[in-house]
Amino acid sequence: MIKNITLRTNNLEISKNIKKILIDKFISAGFSTSENLTPETELVISVGGDGSFLKTARELNFPDVPFFCVNTGHLGFFAEILPDEKEIDFFIDSYLNSEYEVNELNLLEFYIYGEDSDVQIDYAINEVVVRGNKSRTAHLNLFVNGNYMETFSGDGLIISTSTGSTAYNYSAGGSIVDNRLKIMQITPISPISTNAFRSFTSSIILPADDCEVSINPEYKSDESILIVVDGEETKHNGVTKIITKQTNKKIKLLRLSDYEFWDRVYMKFLKTYDYKANELRSNRNRTK
Ligand code: NAP
Ligand code: MN
Repeated sequence: MIKNITLRTNNLEISKNIKKILIDKFISAGFSTSENLTPETELVISVGGDGSFLKTARELNFPDVPFFCVNTGHLGFFAEILPDEKEIDFFIDSYLNSEYEVNELNLLEFYIYGEDSDVQIDYAINEVVVRGNKSRTAHLNLFVNGNYMETFSGDGLIISTSTGSTAYNYSAGGSIVDNRLKIMQITPISPISTNAFRSFTSSIILPADDCEVSINPEYKSDESILIVVDGEETKHNGVTKIITKQTNKKIKLLRLSDYEFWDRVYMKFLKTYDYKANELRSNRNRTK
């Protein structure tokens, strides 16, 4: 039985070129490759940005095999390497010699209850966002383990995993969470806090394995809300509640030997200064 590598890319030329290089190298190393999962797939490679990885994991229905990400996108928080041949060789070498770790990312499971329709179940790697339709103020009753917490009014609520803490959650003022912690972070997006509407103005952090969050929309002028899962938006009518909790489903990421979560946070969030220093250095060289 030949071991198989499943490869997916976004539409960028560079991603397609990297895919070709990866296919050649894996075939030379005795593997088969495919676009879709096969029973022999032992690794999925996503070439693109973080969005490509999120999309691929969703399209392949969160399989049990590890993912490996090559960044040809903008941020590439999930990616282990850049689209560079030396880095690709380092990766393949590490892979063949089993010099890697596999990180497990805990997913959120959520249930959407409609007035008439069946319950819909879905999963998120980063987050589930509930927001108002047509940019209207959303009014959302929030319950934790059945206890009423608040009626949130504002743009929406983000329910984020630790993995998603560095994504939309962070832009909305939420905290970055060590990815070893299993939590759900509820972060308000532009909460209104006035005499008319009172909402928490900061995030709430809950133990994911012991909490169930329910968001029950209150409709004023519009019966619709938007539910955005890892960046993919769907409009829903007449939703009565959205229940979110942790699931046993996980997604696995292959990490090379030098991976460390907080180093990744530093490199992707704060290292801008060094880029500027490099720019200055190259400008100086150019003007010499
Ligand atoms: P996108 O608009 O390209 O994503 C926005 C940025 O978030 C991109 O730079 C993306 O990286 C980065 N990102 C995604 N997951 C991340 C993570 N876990 N940690 C750190 N950064 C992360 O859309 P997309 O690529 O399809 O990604 C979907 C995600 O975008 C959603 O899950 C949501 O978290 C995020 N988002 C953020 C905002 C905001 O910050 N205001 C608004 C909407 C959505 P790449 O450049 O590598 O793709
Ligand atoms: Mn993106």
